[in-house]
Amino acid sequence: MYPRAFHYHRAGSLKEAVSMLSQLGDDAKLLAGGQSLIPLMKLRFANPSHLVDLNFVSGISSIEEEKGTLRFGALTRHAEIEASSIAAKIPILHDCAAGIADVQVRNRGTIGGSLAEADPSGDWATVLMTLHTEVHCLGPRGERSVPVADFIKDAYTTVLTHDELVSQVVVETPPKGSGGAYLAFKRSAPVYPTASVAVQLTMEGDVVKDAAIALGCVGLTAIRAKDAAAALLGQRITDKTMSAAMEAASAAADPQTDMRGSAEYKRTLVGALAKRAIEIAVRRARGERVEAGHIYA
Ligand SMILES: Cc1cc2nc3c(=O)[nH]c(=O)nc-3n(C[C@H](O)[C@H](O)[C@H](O)COP(=O)(O)OP(=O)(O)OC[C@H]3O[C@@H](n4cnc5c(N)ncnc54)[C@H](O)[C@@H]3O)c2cc1C
Repeated sequence: MYPRAFHYHRAGSLKEAVSMLSQLGDDAKLLAGGQSLIPLMKLRFANPSHLVDLNFVSGISSIEEEKGTLRFGALTRHAEIEASSIAAKIPILHDCAAGIADVQVRNRGTIGGSLAEADPSGDWATVLMTLHTEVHCLGPRGERSVPVADFIKDAYTTVLTHDELVSQVVVETPPKGSGGAYLAFKRSAPVYPTASVAVQLTMEGDVVKDAAIALGCVGLTAIRAKDAAAALLGQRITDKTMSAAMEAASAAADPQTDMRGSAEYKRTLVGALAKRAIEIAVRRARGERVEAGHIYA
């Protein structure tokens, strides 16, 4: 189906995009990679009267390392992150970017658009929640910085007001001795995962000094599995601590039965993904190079 008719506006800068959104009102939408918005418009689930295109704004598709942080411009494509040697310094970011959909979607889809869409099945929010991540939001009254866990309020709902946009995503580089892994289980490349687990651990010798675990596609938003992380904190990774973390991760999931599987199946899957992701995170924390990412059925 063709989308309903709309007016097209090309923004020359982020400030101009904000002022366009302010003037055009809440019937205007930003266009980034179009990989969520355009399909929704074609199905007529989204019918904006105005589209404000960000694709001609220069300098917002960028990955920079600065003072212990990695800074991603809002329009940075998944494929650019996948190919970036800077982003590869935090391996969990590469795990995520390299597995999103297929190459066509990765070439167009953006990190800013993905967070703003707040799709419960989206990969980025889950991964970024295990790192110290700030989402920079630009609006008519200036810029504010929001931790990623607070940025997403509900399914398809963020803290952004209608005249605000995501300008940058800033991730703190984890300390020495840290390692992470993101595993998503998928039926095939161009579909969203059935369930996913992101783990970021900081090790002191064999003991877990810091831990963050997040679950994707098993709730209305990405879920911080705090009890699963607590089960590892201050512990060595043994069969007992691993089982405790797996059980707590499964318990934290809040999945729906749907075409991707039953709720029970997804809970079991979360436990299994958590185990594998913890094992890889520990090896990476030791400095080992380990390939990880999406797992296909
Ligand atoms: C076949 C297919 C499979 C997919 N599979 C996956 C998958 O497995 N995992 C996954 O994570 N994603 C998947 N996606 C989605 C993809 O990652 C999209 O790139 C992403 O969800 C949206 O990014 P976008 O840049 O395309 O945003 P758009 O579609 O352009 O915009 C999405 C929404 O965000 C708003 N927006 C865009 N940019 C900004 C901004 N800077 N500030 C504020 N609001 C903004 C738009 O107005 C719109 O409401 C898939 C998409 C397709 C078509």
